[in-house]
Amino acid sequence: MKGLLDQQFGQGEIVISKVDDLINWARLSSLWPLGFGLACCAIEMMTTFASNYDLDRFGVIPRATPRQSDAMIISGTVTFKMADRVRRLYEQMAEPRYVISMGSCSNCGGPYWEHGYNVVKGVDRIIPVDVYVPGCPPRPEALIGGILKLRDQIREETLMAPTAVEKLMNKAKA
Ligand code: SF4
Repeated sequence: MKGLLDQQFGQGEIVISKVDDLINWARLSSLWPLGFGLACCAIEMMTTFASNYDLDRFGVIPRATPRQSDAMIISGTVTFKMADRVRRLYEQMAEPRYVISMGSCSNCGGPYWEHGYNVVKGVDRIIPVDVYVPGCPPRPEALIGGILKLRDQIREETLMAPTAVEKLMNKAKA
């Protein structure tokens, strides 16, 4: 940690920062998405995690359990049968948690929009989405673009902002 700080800020220098900036820097530098895929988009997601694109360099490391994850990449078709599980996994992640919707199916139902009686027409109908990545399927570069966008959003966060649960409670009260 000391070595890293020396690299980033220069040895022996004094760093003055807001607590928000420090926490945001830590969060955006260690996004751990839940590693699961729903359909063909997941192949592109797995490619993005592989050595050629190397998401590790952004501190993005897939985890096998929602308890250790703070992000979800919804990569593929969300069927009604799967929707409950997606929502449950989302709820098992600790706050603050983030969602990237990857691909047309997850964004809006994709090719199943018109006749897919079994497909949720957008994962944002069951969980809040922070970033949408377009494409069928999106290329790894597009997913990396989505992750960078999410990092930019996290950089602007403040500890005083209401959590997702508080937002839902406020909405229910209104
Ligand atoms: Fe497959 Fe296209 Fe749907 Fe991705 S958006 S899951 S590539 S049909």
